[in-house]
Amino acid sequence: MTDKAQKPIIQHPSYDFLWSFAGYDRKKSSNVKKFLIADGIVGAEQFMRPAPISDEDMKLGHSERYIASLKDKRTLAAIFQIETLKKWYMPNFVGQYAFIEPIKHHTGGTLLAGQQALKHGWAINLGGGAHHAARDESSGFCAIADISISINQIRRDNPHVKNIMIVDLDAHQGNGHERDFLCDDSVYTIDFYTYMGEDFYPNDTLAMQKINIDEKLAPQTGDTEYLIKLRSAFNRAAQEFKPDMIYYVAGSDILKDDVVGQQAITAKGLIKRDEIVFHYAFNKNVPIVMVFGGGYQKNNARIIADSITNLDQQFKLF
Ligand SMILES: [Zn+2]
Repeated sequence: MTDKAQKPIIQHPSYDFLWSFAGYDRKKSSNVKKFLIADGIVGAEQFMRPAPISDEDMKLGHSERYIASLKDKRTLAAIFQIETLKKWYMPNFVGQYAFIEPIKHHTGGTLLAGQQALKHGWAINLGGGAHHAARDESSGFCAIADISISINQIRRDNPHVKNIMIVDLDAHQGNGHERDFLCDDSVYTIDFYTYMGEDFYPNDTLAMQKINIDEKLAPQTGDTEYLIKLRSAFNRAAQEFKPDMIYYVAGSDILKDDVVGQQAITAKGLIKRDEIVFHYAFNKNVPIVMVFGGGYQKNNARIIADSITNLDQQFKLF
């Protein structure tokens, strides 16, 4: 830690969910922050705190019809797979308070991260990465398309930013942003995800057409194979595309024993993964935005904090 100035590492106490699903650490974001402070990597006063996304900014990525549908608890019940929300006695505000408020803060964090990355060369949102959300339809615990909205906002406000690379290393296919940018050649997508055909969510074959480097991973892929594939993906991408900005979905559901992600990556492998992505961005001098994505085990916060610590050691972030 060099000084007490704010750094583009972004978090808000409202990121924590009130509801824990699938054994998920509902305080993953706060716990990463806590570890980074306790380890002396980032000072408590150095974190940036985002405002929730405004209704106006929601329109940068969603149709009016979709925005209206989020006010209905049945939509939320479907996205978050919470059957009890559908029940008549569960008031609508419960869904708004438990799900939409946290997610509006996560999305505000990704918007702030986009702006900060252009200033500092990097930004980390300890949340966001709702990569199954798209303009008109969402699923898989993702309600607001923070990545697409941020890209649309950044390109609107910064005409020199045209070419965007999305590196989606969550264990699931990022079909939300892929659908949103399906016909946009100025977005280049690298997506590594578990592939078991129809047996693994989301298996969105339309969205797959958008992926430039489409790495369908066998279940339980280990570190060595994964990291070789990642390095070779960047070698190929360097020949094919010159990004003005990179969005990195750093899902931790690739970690071994994650029953949702079905991969076998160790903590060491995940830390190396993040380092390879940041090295690519810094080496090419391209601003990078890192967002969380999925990750469903109780140990994730510790490993993510260790990875950010490694990024600091490699690239002097703080
Ligand atoms: Zn995932």
